[in-house]
Amino acid sequence: MRKYVRSEIVDMKGYVSGEQPQGNEAVKLNTNENPYRASENVYDAIRQAAEVGLSRYPNPLGEAVRQTAAKLYGVDPASVMCGNGSDDLLTILTRTFVGSGELLRMPYPSYILYESLAEIQGAFCEKIHFNPDWTLPKKFEENPIEELGDISQGKANNLRLVVLPNPNSPSGTVIPKTKILEIAQQLPCPLVVDEAYADFAEENCLDLVEECERIIVCRTLSKSYALAGLRFGFLVASPKLVEQMLKVKDSYNCDTLSIAAAAAALADQDWLRENRRKILATRARLQKRMRKLGFDVPTSHANFTWNTRSDRPVQPIYAFLKERGFLVRYMNYPGWSDGLRISVGTDEQTDRCVDLIEEFLEKT
Ligand code: PMP
Repeated sequence: MRKYVRSEIVDMKGYVSGEQPQGNEAVKLNTNENPYRASENVYDAIRQAAEVGLSRYPNPLGEAVRQTAAKLYGVDPASVMCGNGSDDLLTILTRTFVGSGELLRMPYPSYILYESLAEIQGAFCEKIHFNPDWTLPKKFEENPIEELGDISQGKANNLRLVVLPNPNSPSGTVIPKTKILEIAQQLPCPLVVDEAYADFAEENCLDLVEECERIIVCRTLSKSYALAGLRFGFLVASPKLVEQMLKVKDSYNCDTLSIAAAAAALADQDWLRENRRKILATRARLQKRMRKLGFDVPTSHANFTWNTRSDRPVQPIYAFLKERGFLVRYMNYPGWSDGLRISVGTDEQTDRCVDLIEEFLEKT
């Protein structure tokens, strides 16, 4: 393969997404989707857009979403960029800021895709290990450009991008925004705050974008708007940075139907508030029951919980649940630990899942 394919690509593992069985036979609590149906306004907007026709190219900037998001968050439309899911935005960000031989830093354990994107660029990716309580190491907070580990030997002065998912996956934990601002102020490069799950948290970093030109906030409609199948995300950054990133994106990275749908979803904040209320209530219940069953569960600010235990392996629990038609995510992070990441489903799905875990623990 080396004859044809760039060595960076041959040498990389490639990102592996969670299991996506097609059809409705499994209860899917493995990829942090929303268990509820999106706002009816979204379906109406898709029907209307289709009615108008699909023979023309879409608006290249997703202008309807830019305007709606700008109004909603009180930002300049020129500071909003749309993407085909936030994965697309993360690709554009990495391609814009990180060149071959340069350095991207990310916390660990977190979203593994960042590493794959750095690898595609032929860049170095350094993982900053979280403390056991999911705070960032003091050393990094105090000096985020310091030489930290083996990989950054001689490369820290080539630091081009830091990516911080907040809330983090798989832990659901958050770094306070005051800390994030302090880190960004010391950096020589942009700090992407990946806020895929921020609608389920108490605070977010959107208003820091104006305060610090290095902060870029990335959002998705996949989780809190129940639109993972639609593929839509947007980011908020300084207009000067957006101008550069627009050169990197595909000309028509979002299609007519998804632009119409995303604008309608963002415009229906009543739907979002009600959905958030339900998810947070079920999350509290999931967390409480899992702790009662003996799992360590860090307090979650997202739509999932991270469940570990030191007294027994958890992979057999994953396998048992799968046999019974319940998919959760088993994750094993080398140098850290393994655990089960369980997405918040409906009350019924969540209760049934925990009942099964209880049944398994009782008989083994
Ligand atoms: N960021 C994080 C932290 C995620 O967990 C995910 C979902 N896997 C994404 C980004 C990507 O979401 P999407 O591409 O569906 O917008």
